[in-house]
Amino acid sequence: MKKIVLFLLFGLLSFGTLFAQDSTYARRIIRQLSSNKMFGRGSSYQGDSIAAAYLSGEMKRLGVLPLQVNYYQRYCYNCYSMEGPISLKINGRELEPYNQFRVYPTARYQQKIDQATQKKQLKNGTWLYAVTSLDTYGPIVGDYSDNPVCIAVLDTLFPKRPRKIEANIPLQYRNNYWTQNVVGYVKGTVDSMIVFTAHYDHCGTMGDGVIFPGAHDNASGVAAVMDLARMACQQQPYYTMVFMLFSGEEAGLKGSQYAAAHPLIDYSRVKLLCNIDMFCGGDEGIMFFNAKSDNTKIFYNQLLQLNETSKVALEIRPRDNRPNSDHWPFSALCPSIYLLSMGGPYGGYHNPSDTCKGCGLAHYHDYMTLIKQLAHL
Ligand SMILES: [Zn+2]
Repeated sequence: MKKIVLFLLFGLLSFGTLFAQDSTYARRIIRQLSSNKMFGRGSSYQGDSIAAAYLSGEMKRLGVLPLQVNYYQRYCYNCYSMEGPISLKINGRELEPYNQFRVYPTARYQQKIDQATQKKQLKNGTWLYAVTSLDTYGPIVGDYSDNPVCIAVLDTLFPKRPRKIEANIPLQYRNNYWTQNVVGYVKGTVDSMIVFTAHYDHCGTMGDGVIFPGAHDNASGVAAVMDLARMACQQQPYYTMVFMLFSGEEAGLKGSQYAAAHPLIDYSRVKLLCNIDMFCGGDEGIMFFNAKSDNTKIFYNQLLQLNETSKVALEIRPRDNRPNSDHWPFSALCPSIYLLSMGGPYGGYHNPSDTCKGCGLAHYHDYMTLIKQLAHL
């Protein structure tokens, strides 16, 4: 009896270990990328470059080869960063950054400022305006470089007569901010290529103390791509596998646009480009963008068929092509698709609670198996 119990216990333990191993590597990547030392992987404290150094080191360690002298494809764009203490006091009352006020580019929010019933303009042109709820945070990017910022404040904290306003918004404009895509490949038995892409940047910081960890968006997609790279290094794949990790996505697909305009590979030889963005969840299935184009619908049907056999995803929902992630700039060059995990569990979206801890990865192994089958890996 004792033996049977021990046997069962051992069986359970090894099954548990096996199960944990499925996402162990991915979780390690997510934990690193979403840690405070990466400063939200934006331009603040060059968090994006800290992440790039980590990822290129990891590619080298795995045995992924660089496409050029090294793994970096350098480029630049204009943007803002927010480094240093941030504070806002209205009539002597100190407000909490992010939870009680948020900083936005005026260009995108002019209408909201116009419509606000309570507002006040500071001497330097910055508008303060009251809102019933605060919008999703996005980094203030180069497109708004000529414009001042505005500060949205929760209306419950916006006094009728805002007599004294003390605002310290540590905004720095970066002209020609240098960043990089991180790119590598694993040689297959044939020269035709399968390309996996994901953006590694995120929203950075909103002053010191407010960091956007971006575990779901998109440390999880990067982790999946790195995991595929790890597997491709273990056994020579049939197709040559290319791995592209972009920066500048949150600033408007800057990295992927640059990569598409300055090709490092021959895109006529790419059988499929698969972009992964937000991969922590999946309780509701997988969303498949660009499922209906002439050169991509075959892959949608394949994934559907694979799932029919394994039934791991509740649904694989087809969507038209949209400029909502990094597959978009490549659509004109090769068959390009974008996969997104629908539903939870994940920590948050563009907020400080999008942490590694909140990253469920409950369907990670199953969905990776589908993707691997699609890539003949
Ligand atoms: Zn995002």
